[in-house]
Amino acid sequence: MMLEPESLNLPRYQRQELFPGLGRSGQRGILNARVLIVGLGGVGSWLSELLVRAGVSMLRLVDDDTVDWTNIARQAMYDELDAAEHSPKVYSAAEYLGRINHNLDIEPKQTHLYEDNIARLADGMDLILDGTSDWSSRFLINDYAVKMDIPWVFASAVRDEGQVLPILPGKTACLRCVFETPPTPEEEKSEKASRVGILGTAVAAVAAMEANEALKILAGRTEALSPYLTKLDLWSNQVRQIPAVRDPKNTCPCCGQRRFDFLEG
Ligand SMILES: [Zn+2]
Repeated sequence: MMLEPESLNLPRYQRQELFPGLGRSGQRGILNARVLIVGLGGVGSWLSELLVRAGVSMLRLVDDDTVDWTNIARQAMYDELDAAEHSPKVYSAAEYLGRINHNLDIEPKQTHLYEDNIARLADGMDLILDGTSDWSSRFLINDYAVKMDIPWVFASAVRDEGQVLPILPGKTACLRCVFETPPTPEEEKSEKASRVGILGTAVAAVAAMEANEALKILAGRTEALSPYLTKLDLWSNQVRQIPAVRDPKNTCPCCGQRRFDFLEG
């Protein structure tokens, strides 16, 4: 396929570069970034598309799921054919994203994230983004990211609600500074989208907030990162910002005492 020469040049990002928060140097950071997205459901699918459109040129995608009909109402990138064929999400996503940017370096990995594959999957990445819907993966990512000093962004969505927290290991509060332990399996099960429902609008809003924090990190504008755990309740139009503070006395088991309980299994 022949592409217009201008599609290969930076002018496609001109509107973003005009935004003072990014500028040309910020855009360069985005273009050179290597990003791992774990989970390609609701949040992860919108997140992937936003990042590729913004100029991220290397993405590694991790998900073991296939597309089904209940996904279409809230998940970007997938269509009826994917649902009919139960296509693996990582491969449908790679094909779709490759049509947005033909220069995209994309690595689909059809697997779940475990303590014994996270080092391989996160190798060489500048940023890890949470598109998962399970807390064990989030606590595992937090352990690995803090241990290896890789920035990451936590996000979750269910019903009409969501929450987002950007994490710079050793500098800002980590996931365990805010939530010391994951919910119990029973608590987690009772909060699943398959049980309590979920709105595509909430998913897209959370993904946009997560992508926004990601762009700040990639652009080197970490001073603009949110110092809060931001909670959205879309249906009742509420936003709550809860200060996310790292205890200077290092009481956090993960980023304070450097105990990586979830990584060690
Ligand atoms: Zn911590």
